[in-house]
Amino acid sequence: MTTMFDVAVVGSGPAGATAARALAGRGLRVALLERETLPRYKTCGGGLVARAFELLPTEVHGVVERNCEGAELHLLDRDLHFRAARPRPHPRPAPLIAMTMRDRLDQTLATAAVAAGAELRAPCRVTGLHPEGAGIRLDTDREPVTASFVIAADGAQSDVARLAGWSDGRHLIPALEYEVEVDRDTFDRFAGAPRFDVGLVPYGYAWVFPKAAHLSVGVLTAHRGAINLHRHLEEYLRGIGLFPRSTQRHGFVIPVRPRAGLLARGRVLLTGDAAGLADPVTAEGISPAAQSGRLAAEAIHRAWETGLDPRQVRAAYAALLQPMLADLRVGRWLARVLYDHPRARAWIFRQIGQRLVDAITEVFLGARTYRGSLTGLALAFPRRVKTRS
Ligand SMILES: Cc1cc2nc3c(=O)[nH]c(=O)nc-3n(C[C@H](O)[C@H](O)[C@H](O)COP(=O)(O)OP(=O)(O)OC[C@H]3O[C@@H](n4cnc5c(N)ncnc54)[C@H](O)[C@@H]3O)c2cc1C
Repeated sequence: MTTMFDVAVVGSGPAGATAARALAGRGLRVALLERETLPRYKTCGGGLVARAFELLPTEVHGVVERNCEGAELHLLDRDLHFRAARPRPHPRPAPLIAMTMRDRLDQTLATAAVAAGAELRAPCRVTGLHPEGAGIRLDTDREPVTASFVIAADGAQSDVARLAGWSDGRHLIPALEYEVEVDRDTFDRFAGAPRFDVGLVPYGYAWVFPKAAHLSVGVLTAHRGAINLHRHLEEYLRGIGLFPRSTQRHGFVIPVRPRAGLLARGRVLLTGDAAGLADPVTAEGISPAAQSGRLAAEAIHRAWETGLDPRQVRAAYAALLQPMLADLRVGRWLARVLYDHPRARAWIFRQIGQRLVDAITEVFLGARTYRGSLTGLALAFPRRVKTRS
């Protein structure tokens, strides 16, 4: 038997689970369709920056493996070192960056959506979309589902976006994540704070994230040609003196530029990686995914009260997304300066490195946008250069 839902949310990652929780919590009938059996491994550093906590249910604190009040940034090619720290006192109680594993994090998010009233079907892969009356029929590898609206939250390889007719236009950057086990002394050496290392991987960076009992080590690059990322990650491990006892290797892509054009068409709304909303500077994708899930839910909820008119939903979603898309454009500009031009990067970091780190930290905290942070920095810049010269 086919059940009619108000909204079918495809994908139970941060975007989908957030949208489903918001809509079900407001009384809409919501199906949350997830391809995998939960919990499932997800290739991700699992770094949860402070701004994410405002978007996610409080239960996520229960799956944090380590709360970090600071992070290290190293420009390895220039021997420059900086520290990001949460200013004290700061109105937001969340840590600057919390270490999680995505299997447990995403299961917690899906459970919170179910507790709010969403119906979770997992494993259940969506394989087709067909307009049907005043709604959409979703074919799945189980029984079909019909809904008035579909929220595509099915990640970087979004089947739903393709089935709904979107061409791509996102910039997908490759990234590797190694889950490594090391001896106790080595673990203790890296356990104090997550570290980010720039200058080793062309057009990108590497990281070490300390989890409860192992390290998540990764690299990513915005380079568009062929590149052997495994070689870079192996070099990185050796370069920072990390000799794993065991390694699980995973790779995936992160979309750091949104799809061209509108992110809603017909009765389908794109969110998270399916839309291409990861942060272009840090490739942090969990909070933009959750934020866009929340905005998609808000757009549908507004129209629910007046009869779920698709035009109204699309217009509301476009308007709600606008500030986020504008700030991602500023972020893309900063990312180009930092990753595409190593000499300019080194010069900028020598002049105002700590201030730039503080500005990006403010974005992590959700206290400022890139636009606001960089405007403040630009105003201070001539004075700073003058003082140093
Ligand atoms: C190596 C690496 C490291 C990263 N590190 C970080 C980090 O430390 N911090 C951070 O914030 N971000 C990080 N990111 C980015 C982050 O993982 C993503 O941006 C984020 O997960 C996007 O969330 P989402 O909800 O849009 O999609 P996803 O989290 O990808 O969730 C999509 C869900 O949809 C399901 N699905 C897919 N197709 C279908 C289908 N046809 N039917 C039903 N279900 C389907 C999938 O199984 C999945 O559960 C990293 C990414 C990579 C690759």
